Amino acid sequence: MSIANQAPANIRAISPYIPGKPITELAREMGIPVESIVKLASNENPLGMSPKARVAVEAALAGIERYPDNFDLTQKLADHLGVAMDSVVLGNGSNDVLDLAARVFLAPGRSAVFSQHAFAVYPLATMSAGAECIVAPAKHYGHDLAAIRAAMRPDTRVVWIANPTNPTGNFVPHPEVKAFLQTVPADVVVVLDEAYNEYLAPAERSDTLAWLNEFPNLIVTRTFSKVYGLAGLRVGYAVAQPEVADLMNRVRQPFNVNNLALAAAVAALDDHVFVAESYDLNRRGMEQLVAGFKRLGLEHIPSHGNFVTFAIADGAAINQKLLQQGVIVRPLGGYGLPNHLRVTIGRETENARFLAALEKAL
Ligand SMILES: *Cc1c(COP(=O)(O)O)cnc(C)c1O
Repeated sequence: MSIANQAPANIRAISPYIPGKPITELAREMGIPVESIVKLASNENPLGMSPKARVAVEAALAGIERYPDNFDLTQKLADHLGVAMDSVVLGNGSNDVLDLAARVFLAPGRSAVFSQHAFAVYPLATMSAGAECIVAPAKHYGHDLAAIRAAMRPDTRVVWIANPTNPTGNFVPHPEVKAFLQTVPADVVVVLDEAYNEYLAPAERSDTLAWLNEFPNLIVTRTFSKVYGLAGLRVGYAVAQPEVADLMNRVRQPFNVNNLALAAAVAALDDHVFVAESYDLNRRGMEQLVAGFKRLGLEHIPSHGNFVTFAIADGAAINQKLLQQGVIVRPLGGYGLPNHLRVTIGRETENARFLAALEKAL
């Protein structure tokens, strides 16, 4: 008998997370030089990291023998967001805080609800905590809040909602999300994952953190991985009522965010120029890609993030043909969308390379 069988059934049932193919892996597999590969598969920032963050990382190397002190970033975020310091929970990426929320509020005998085609980390976190996954049907590939409400059971303790959502990019206007929160029982935690919040158009934005006063069962999560360009350093955060944040901080590993990530995040918050450039590049790239899809006669799902998901007859085959040309996008078979591919919005030249490769692949 295998020792692996001794792991609880909920652990053995977890499907491994499939990341975007690393550039180095494609280079090894196909013998393509690293420099000529275009990776638009993981919603990374094509501008790299903020120059201010880079300087801060270099300076932080001087104290790398010391354990991290997360005070400065916590305070900086609290100021930046207009919340109390004891409302902030730092994570090794926002995936980490999603996992903390699951460990605090889920357990065997409880369930969590999320949407069809939702972010793969929601089932991971739910199952790791021994809870049951309930999948609500999507509407136009995005969240159907009424269906999510209807799917909730008396044992439901967590609802996972990404807004905008990944991998399909749909956005539910904030008034609708707020109306939904009003229908959720007070003993159910709603995790509102706002990883792409900074890419929202000004007219779509509002202060969702202000809802925390009205809804003590709300947890809002955000990340430095996307518009701030720090995906490889791993830093994200949750904002919640202090009593919720306190529980999440108790199960958190004491030193979960490293010195370099802390320093980079503090500096990145101040680099408004970099954030604005990243936002503008994304808007222009979105137009470029959407125009390209139109020209090629391909349907796409209107996106509010830094990526676009488009329909294709055979996602796996086209993906393969793109890989052969050194272009990495994200196949979505694992998300129940085998006839779609997701492309991250890159620099103009990268988007053009992708569109040319796609045209050839078709
Ligand atoms: C990218 C992404 C995140 C952020 O993950 P990190 O762990 O912060 O890198 C969170 N939620 C969704 C839906 C995402 O797409």
